[in-house]
Parts: sequence; C-alpha cells; structure tokens
Amino acid sequence: MEQFQMDSAEAQPPFLSIVLPVFREGRHLPAFLTAVRSSMGKCNLPYEVVLVDDGSPDETWQVIVEEAKRSQGLRALRLSRNFGKESALCAGLEHARGNAVIAMDADGQHPPSLIPDMVRQWQTSGADIVEAVKRGRGRESLSNKLGAQLFYFILNKLSGFHFKGASDFKLMNRKAVDAWLKMHERNVFFRGMTIWMGFTTVQIPFEVVPRSAGHSTWSALKRLKLALIGITAFSSFPLHLVTFAGVVFLVISVLLGLETLYLKLVGRAVSGFATVILLELIIGSLLMISLGIIGEYLARIYEEVKGRPRYIVTESIDPDE
Ligand code: UDP
Ligand code: MG
Repeated sequence: MEQFQMDSAEAQPPFLSIVLPVFREGRHLPAFLTAVRSSMGKCNLPYEVVLVDDGSPDETWQVIVEEAKRSQGLRALRLSRNFGKESALCAGLEHARGNAVIAMDADGQHPPSLIPDMVRQWQTSGADIVEAVKRGRGRESLSNKLGAQLFYFILNKLSGFHFKGASDFKLMNRKAVDAWLKMHERNVFFRGMTIWMGFTTVQIPFEVVPRSAGHSTWSALKRLKLALIGITAFSSFPLHLVTFAGVVFLVISVLLGLETLYLKLVGRAVSGFATVILLELIIGSLLMISLGIIGEYLARIYEEVKGRPRYIVTESIDPDE
C-alpha cells in the first residue's frame, strides 16, 4: 500500500475522499450523508465528502450549502448545468484530495454500510481498486434489465473486457485516480475506463437496494447514449463490421452478376422484379446502417477534437477556506 507523502515529517493516517454526484437528490441527501458519516465513523480515518451538484434545477444546492455550514470536511461543487453523471464524477475525482477515493451514487442504492469493508480490503489486500460488484440489479423495469444485459453482452464480446456486474461504486487509491485523470476523453465511461486501466482489483459483492427516495433520472435515451459511448469508446469492431458486410456483398454481387450475364447471353433474361426489390432493400438498409455506424464514431471524434472542458463549475465550497 502506498503512503501519502505529507509535508510534516510524522506519518499521517491515510485520508479518504467520498465522491458523490448528485442530481435532484436534495430531499434525502441529509439522511444519506448521515449514513455515510456513521459508516466512516467505523473506519476511524480522516475523510472528506465531495459533493458534485450536477446542475440540479431544484433545491439540492441549498441543501448542500446548509449541510456544509453544519458539518466540517464537506467539499462541494456546483456545475453550471446538467452535464451527466459521468462528467459529475470527473469533477468529483479531480477535486478529491484523498489518498483513496470512493465513488458512489447518492441515492442510497450503493449502501454506505459497505464502506468499512471496502476500506479494510484496500488496507489489507494492497489492491489499487476495490470494486463493489452488483450481485443482482435490484428492482428495475424489464426493459432496463434486458437493455443492460444486451449492452454488457455486446460490450464484453467487442471489447474483450469483463464488465458483468460492474458498477460505479468503487474505491480507488491515489495511483489509480491519478492514472484515471490522465485520460482526457470527453466521452467518459467511468466503469469502462477503470477496468481498462488494468490495476489490481479486489471485488466485493453487494446487493443493489431500492432508491431511498425520488426516482431515477436516467431516461431510456440517456442510457442508450451511455451505451453507445461505452461501445464506441471500447471497440472499433462495428467499423470493421461495415467492411465485412461490404466484402460479403461483393462476393454475392459477383455471383449474381455472372448469373445475370449468362441469362442475358442465352436470351432468358426474364422478370426478376422480386430479386431487384429485395436487393434494393437489403443494400439500402445496409448502406444506411453503415453510414450510421461511421457517423457514431465521427460524432465521438468531433466531440473529442473540440476539446471543450468536461464540465463547468459555477459555485464551490472549499472546507480549507
Ligand atoms: N446523477 C447525476 N447526473 C445525472 C443523473 C444522475 O449526477 O444527470 C447521479 C444521481 O444523483 C445519483 C447517481 O447519478 O447519485 C445515479 O443516478 P440514478 O439513481 O438516477 O441512476 P440509476 O441508479 O437508475 O442508474
Ligand atoms: Mg440509482
């Protein structure tokens, strides 16, 4: 385990940061923070809580300001608009000061009671990342469940990394966080990027509990967008698929061409209406899908080359000030 080099000569106990992206979670945030604090109390380590308000339109920021007045060690950032959970996580990781950082959801689905276990694993196993792995997916709609299964199936097959049960509930040591922050892409996929880094990881299983209050703000469209980012960021296989389909159709077209020529020469070139229509339809849809796939990658490249910041902070609370 690495020890943090402090300015003072004496060794300090490791310092922990808990990063929580929050979007419209104000109402149950105080109760959640109390649960986090009581779990941290069991660890007996100094810590800070880093709250990132992802542009919540409701009273979330006021709740955070009130919390900061009442308790010490609370760092908070307010993003100028809703940048999405992945960007909020980035902001939190960039501002966390700890020797280890725990990232978790602020809706209670990642139980704070698991924190002492994660910290113990980190301190005893010497692993760089302690990952909480979902045993079940909790209560979810069927479409979400099927969608997630299809997504992970495709991602596992295409990327070669193992994503099953992966969640955003993780402890990363300073080495892993610094390495993560060196990845400057705008299309962030937190889970995938941590797995990609390949540091030694221990896993702790956990059961996803129902949300403590409110409802998930991830629409089907948002999930699909993240899925597309995950797939395009971790595999270029769909692009090769376009080439592959092209080759298959070239072979078929040579065969069909020869047949057509032969029929023409022997004077038997009769009605082939169905064939023509079918070919039109197949080739037309293949072309469009191919263009779409290329467009997906192009969009990612476009977003990356613009080089915009991943998030913008409008207000912040710094406990050191
Ligand atoms: N979240 C966020 N920005 C968003 C949506 C969600 O920071 O645009 C946070 C949210 O506050 C919570 C976590 O991401 O802490 C998980 O969100 P949610 O529970 O809505 O997702 P689910 O658990 O349904 O995947
Ligand atoms: Mg949730």
